[in-house]
Amino acid sequence: MNEFSTIARIAALAERSALADVALGIGDDAAILDLPRGEQLVAAVDTLVAGVHFPPGTALDAVGWKALAVNVSDFAAMGAQPRWALSSLTLPNPEGALAITRGLLACSKWHGITLVGGDTTRGPFSISVTLLGGAPRGRAVTRAGARAGDDIWVAGTLGEAAAGLACVEQRLEASPSDRARFVRALDKPSPPLALGIELRGIAHAMIDVSDGVLADLGHVLRASALGALIDLSLLPASSALRRAVPDPVAREALQCAGDDYTLLFTASKRNAPRVARIAAQCDVRVTRIGVIQARRGLWREAGGAKTIRIPATGYDHFAKGPPRNRRREQQAD
Ligand code: ADP
Ligand code: MG
Repeated sequence: MNEFSTIARIAALAERSALADVALGIGDDAAILDLPRGEQLVAAVDTLVAGVHFPPGTALDAVGWKALAVNVSDFAAMGAQPRWALSSLTLPNPEGALAITRGLLACSKWHGITLVGGDTTRGPFSISVTLLGGAPRGRAVTRAGARAGDDIWVAGTLGEAAAGLACVEQRLEASPSDRARFVRALDKPSPPLALGIELRGIAHAMIDVSDGVLADLGHVLRASALGALIDLSLLPASSALRRAVPDPVAREALQCAGDDYTLLFTASKRNAPRVARIAAQCDVRVTRIGVIQARRGLWREAGGAKTIRIPATGYDHFAKGPPRNRRREQQAD
């Protein structure tokens, strides 16, 4: 199978999911797309590199799914509607391209996205997906809008993907069904897109949890020039994670490790009932983990009236050394 027959087969697969907003999809030199009136174009790109973003041996369809899902997560965090994806595949041989694309298309159908183009080249294994879509003019949610007194909310639960990686790397033992659940969370994240879109106009600031909840909260605090007080014991965990990792300190480490692809957002206290109602409609659990403060930095409850300042640390590709040695490098001030 050469590059052109591979692309022809990808085009045939993608065609089945083509929607009305595509004037011209795969097959020409570029795609032509119709953005609905009144929307601003929203664009994001993310690259997954074998051995860096997914462990060796990850199923190819999972790689395709995740490469799109991480971008959907960014759109959810903007309260934006994803519409079109472009997929750039670099592979040692083109045989894997179809399997990857099938996984990507499974994710795209789930979210109503059309694959409208891409590129296929030979080389060390990586995949880069560009996602395009829209949001009503001026209404996308950024990291910068948090206000002092806002509640800080986390959607879904934290730590299952990190537990999945720990299982794959044989650092954690879990029952077969818990292990399968964790590895699925690692391989096939399902970001709460509908929730992100419904929170437009209610969330003051929003970000997706990818680097780790503390690091991502740190990004919001920097962008908003504010601080936060959180209670780490409130970080949401699934019953499977509680069962597999009963020790709260070990569990907390997994919950702050990243790769969750869920949402963190802030909203005014008086909107707490509305947030709860919207989350219930979207069938997503939401948990309040703290409050935004004028006092800068990230602080945690430490019993009684005491608070302790903690580093807003997560995964940083360019930081030197393993994560545990760079705890002080990402201060939220
Ligand atoms: P060009 O040389 O003009 O870039 P290509 O041969 O790379 O043309 O691509 C031909 C068509 O196939 C284009 O529409 C391109 O967007 C699409 N395409 C190529 N690779 C992929 C892929 N992996 N996934 C989806 N579409 C692809
Ligand atoms: Mg090309």
